[in-house]
Amino acid sequence: MSRLPAPDLVRVADDLETLASYRDPQAPGWTRRVFSDFDRAGREWVAGRMEDAGLAVETDAAANLIGRLPGSGRRPGVVATGSHTDTVRGGGRYDGIVGVLGAIEAVRCLRQAGAELAHDLVVVDFLGEEPNDFGLSCVGSRAISGSLDEGHLALSGPDGRSLAEAIAASGGRPAALAGARWPDGLHCYIELHVEQGPVLEQALVPIGVVTGIVGIHRLLASIEGQSDHAGTTPMSLRRDALAGAAEAILAVERFAGGGVATVGRIEIRPGAHNVVPAEADLWAEARSPDAGWLDNFGRNLAEELDAIGTRRHLGTKLSWISREHPVTATDWVADAIGEAARSRGVEPMSIPSGAGHDASHMARLGPMGMVFVPSRAGRSHCPEEWTDLEDIGLGIAVLAEAIVLCDQREEERPGAAAHLAR
Ligand SMILES: [Zn+2]
Repeated sequence: MSRLPAPDLVRVADDLETLASYRDPQAPGWTRRVFSDFDRAGREWVAGRMEDAGLAVETDAAANLIGRLPGSGRRPGVVATGSHTDTVRGGGRYDGIVGVLGAIEAVRCLRQAGAELAHDLVVVDFLGEEPNDFGLSCVGSRAISGSLDEGHLALSGPDGRSLAEAIAASGGRPAALAGARWPDGLHCYIELHVEQGPVLEQALVPIGVVTGIVGIHRLLASIEGQSDHAGTTPMSLRRDALAGAAEAILAVERFAGGGVATVGRIEIRPGAHNVVPAEADLWAEARSPDAGWLDNFGRNLAEELDAIGTRRHLGTKLSWISREHPVTATDWVADAIGEAARSRGVEPMSIPSGAGHDASHMARLGPMGMVFVPSRAGRSHCPEEWTDLEDIGLGIAVLAEAIVLCDQREEERPGAAAHLAR
């Protein structure tokens, strides 16, 4: 049985409702996109909630909001938790938000119980987890894990501003970005998140222990033909880029077997009713927990694009925008989450994550685990996104308990044994 108090559901509901009020009234749903005034104001409010909960708050060079609860200092490294509070356009009130506000409530529970951790506990509201106008997701966790580079910072958005300028406007110091990278001191990272899929709800299980996070490969396929008069050019002489693109879209669907793959955006030029399309750009992505499957998908699509180009006398080009590898949760962190769930009387379910998370990047720094709570009807990235308050409360209780269990785990550092032997 746990000695931690149960989360205060009234307080949690209040926090969720208040943060949801920081939204773009011109956009549908509960929109709070990164780099918007609404996001900046919302995160300022979150910083205040962190301080109220007893955390020392700072904004790092990448504009991540970081709240720290000092441990007794006996152990090196930090126990980290958190998520993001930005949303997609037309998004909901729970994706990412539950992990940040839930972590703050977990801190309140720990402090109320007088629980002293050996490690510092760090709560992070990562900057910009959702894809933004610069075409990049997980900006903050990339910076902390050391994979946000100069090329990313130079990306420019629709208003001509660079990503570096956008980060600076959100309170970061992009020139000092190297300082945002965490030193080799992550004891573990645990993230609470809504499932964003239907599996837990259908199984009637309120807690999921994430086994791993899918890899996501994103690509741009560009197809080049020739614009001609739509009335006078015989079908046999056309080099129609859009017809080629249609074949490519169906190939993406065909190669998706065993994983998932999507063409989510298409642009054609010149885009007139009476002109044979000269150029088509397709933005596609594939996801799988299997790195080999992802590589195969890319190879198959590249070959198919070549074949379409040859058959239709079109130029084709495939470029990779990003390739995130699948990551596996760390056994001992997942075990601790399972034990924490059982201490609350719940037999949890092991479940893979088909969505990307800040945890994918944090896994580069050290042991990682995630707690999932159910999403009603599996809906997410839409205004209807919903998780029952009781399930959120249970998720927070499991997070708090898992933090305590993981904190107590002895480090397994190869360097530490060598040090002792000297
Ligand atoms: Zn999320």
